[in-house]
Amino acid sequence: AKTLRLVLGDQLNSNHSWYKNIDPEVVYLMMEMRQETDYVRHHVQKVIGFFMSMRNFAGLLESKGHQVIYFKLDDRQNTQKLDANIDQVILSISASSFEYQLPDEYRLDVQLREISDKLDIPSQAVESEHFLTERGFLADFFKGKKTYLMESFYREMRKKNNILMDGNEPMTGKWNYDHDNRNKLKDPLLLKKAKVNPKNVSEFTELLEKMEVKTIGNVDSENFNWPTSREESLDVLDYFCENLLPRFGEYQDAMYSGDVFLFHSRLSFSMNTKMVSPLEVVETVEKYWLGHQDSISIAQTEGFIRQIIGWREYMRGVYWAKMPEFAQLNFLGQDRKLPDYFWTGKTKMNCMRQAITQSLDHAYAHHIQRLMVTGNFALLAGIDPDEVDQWYLGIYIDAIEWVEITNTRGMSQFADGGIVGTKPYVSSANYIDKMSDYCGSCFYKKSVKHGEKACPFNSLYWHFYERNREKLSKNPRIGMVYPTLGKMKEKDEILAQADYYLKNIENL
Ligand code: FAD
Ligand code: SF4
Repeated sequence: AKTLRLVLGDQLNSNHSWYKNIDPEVVYLMMEMRQETDYVRHHVQKVIGFFMSMRNFAGLLESKGHQVIYFKLDDRQNTQKLDANIDQVILSISASSFEYQLPDEYRLDVQLREISDKLDIPSQAVESEHFLTERGFLADFFKGKKTYLMESFYREMRKKNNILMDGNEPMTGKWNYDHDNRNKLKDPLLLKKAKVNPKNVSEFTELLEKMEVKTIGNVDSENFNWPTSREESLDVLDYFCENLLPRFGEYQDAMYSGDVFLFHSRLSFSMNTKMVSPLEVVETVEKYWLGHQDSISIAQTEGFIRQIIGWREYMRGVYWAKMPEFAQLNFLGQDRKLPDYFWTGKTKMNCMRQAITQSLDHAYAHHIQRLMVTGNFALLAGIDPDEVDQWYLGIYIDAIEWVEITNTRGMSQFADGGIVGTKPYVSSANYIDKMSDYCGSCFYKKSVKHGEKACPFNSLYWHFYERNREKLSKNPRIGMVYPTLGKMKEKDEILAQADYYLKNIENL
């Protein structure tokens, strides 16, 4: 009796216990589908990254002796839908049971439960064996709390997994080294080249063209440079330890127009597709640091590990605690349309042009660009969180809803009213200038709040607080903003400037 096991495109975990034994009665099913290429308009590099990684994974399973049925996007028998494809394959191999790994997206979770209910053979869902916690862990951990404090979750993860720990205490005496981090990049000579392993992906660009899949962004089909196998992902991890970790924390918030990746690991796609596991990444980094303590400080290492067993794991917990309601939240009632330059990069705001253009070219921007440039602008300008979500969900190679929506709607847009963050992440030009080299060559003037060439971030910042006074003024974390606004001499001019910019938002 045959068992059919489904492997989704973000379930490329070759260490899963499913694969421990080679069983001739088990058939694995993997599919490239329009259902997945079309639920949002994706970056072309994202679609290619997924398809290429899936094909590599199917090849790996086959080379180990597993049986795999793989539907390419243009295969004739491919119905392009999960349910119809599964029905068809169950019939063709006469499967007597169906198994799947718990998906990470709510959308697929619902769909797979519906599919299972309709099947007339038994079905079973198993853990994906990727995360450090089970889906419901965070909800239990914070039971009864309105705000989910990341720091306490993170400490729990450190203890539970014995990462950077000395018994029950943090190994170096402190849990958090954020204070040592967050510098502007002043010496570009410190920068390392991003690891390159260019691949020719013309087969995929032709496929997408032939099938008329609508995508965004650009790709150099001869020099695609994302890791698409476990081996390549581990190479990127090693390269990170040797070259980038020594300065990761120090410059994790820095933005620099001459370099896209800076000291970032570029591991999000590899982790989100499960080619490498978060625990394996942090254990590798911890081990490397232990052997190089003379040249790498704890601040760099802790800063990196916090992102993964802290933020990443935490976001996943928030997602399962709050979906499906989370996807509808719009605490500030924002309703403006996303300006066109999000899709073209054609704006005079240099910070926005840099962040958007590199996103279109590389399907990548690092955290502070996402949070404090594009996200900050969208929030200040009052853009509808649905529009903001669609953009983030499409444009980044690592964008899968569980980690995209919690970061976008929650952390960045404050649409959750303070579940993820205790206050909105907004800033004027001041912060952007402090962390980047963007303002120096900008059309706008960073220190001007109203009048000719006033930086839009400045007036929009005050406009944001003014128009959301009712919802934000009682927030204890916001403190000084409202008294300052009250005393501001040029308040009317600044608010009028913001109104003018909002009316002409497409022309900024
Ligand atoms: P590094 O800077 O090298 O960090 C290491 C790893 O830490 C990352 O690979 C990632 O797995 C993890 N990490 C860091 N910050 C976060 C975070 N806030 N949430 C979850 N994991 C984190 N990340 C995604 O993986 N997918 C998304 O769709 C996504 N959307 C985002 C949207 C917004 C508005 C914001 C502000 C952030 C978003 N992030 C998302 C988080 C973060 O920006 C990316 O994980 C990171 O930029 C990926 O690049 P890297 O691998 O070089 O990261
Ligand atoms: Fe961005 Fe304003 Fe600085 Fe220009 S001056 S780069 S718009 S923050």
